[in-house]
Amino acid sequence: MLSGVQWLDASLVGLLGLLIGSFLNVVIHRMPKMLEQQWKAEGAEIMELELPEQPVFNLAVPRSRCPHCGHAITWYENIPVLSYLALGGKCSACKAPISVRYPLVELTVAALFFYCTWTFGANAHGLVWCAFSAILLSAALIDWDTTLLPDDLTLPLLWLGLVAAALQWIPVTLEASVWGAVGGYMSLWLVYQAFKLATGKEGMGYGDFKLFAALGAWFGWQTLIPIILMASVIGAIIGIAMKFNSSLREGGYVPFGPFLAGAGFSALVFGPQALRQAIGL
Ligand SMILES: [Zn+2]
Repeated sequence: MLSGVQWLDASLVGLLGLLIGSFLNVVIHRMPKMLEQQWKAEGAEIMELELPEQPVFNLAVPRSRCPHCGHAITWYENIPVLSYLALGGKCSACKAPISVRYPLVELTVAALFFYCTWTFGANAHGLVWCAFSAILLSAALIDWDTTLLPDDLTLPLLWLGLVAAALQWIPVTLEASVWGAVGGYMSLWLVYQAFKLATGKEGMGYGDFKLFAALGAWFGWQTLIPIILMASVIGAIIGIAMKFNSSLREGGYVPFGPFLAGAGFSALVFGPQALRQAIGL
């Protein structure tokens, strides 16, 4: 049965999702650069080198500018989706195209927030899944862009999953959540060590272990195998497609995080049971 209140709640949280999506575009763009700056500063300190004074760079400062002409983006050019449409996808000053990814991220977050509120309610249950979606999407896109999975995203996602399970905001027992986190980390860590021993190469990064651990915390240990199988299948298909397209980047490295995230979103939308049934567990 359709409920008016349910529609209203989900639509309002969906609108909030547009704004959060706009903020996540900034996070996705700036967090890797902030990390790089931090690593350089730490490296310089260890090496006892003097670095020239760096301009302030964080999520709030400096203001967003067009990467082509430096035009400072005004508030009315920064309204989610609408500004992109009004500007025809071009910078108002130099007419350089603006990536369609910005409005797509905003719409995706809005759709996820709508879905989570519609399905789980306008309460702690729904909101915690909104937070899950926002963090997971940011991590996936940063990994896709830079092959980095920042601890600042994977670790809060992991802790939030454990806390949400302890409070029973998500349908996973605390026990299944803890073992999901441990099992997720350990299994990929073991695969990594075995692969390194066999080939002398590093097949993935520690960020992948942490992301898999986080998904284990949210869906329980029972869903680890379906998630890793699904991520591997999606990853293999896209990896092969990219090879044929010759769109693989240098070294042929395809980050694994986006596929883990894809499996995580499937578990959210279709339910972990559906994932387990899909592979006959
Ligand atoms: Zn411009």
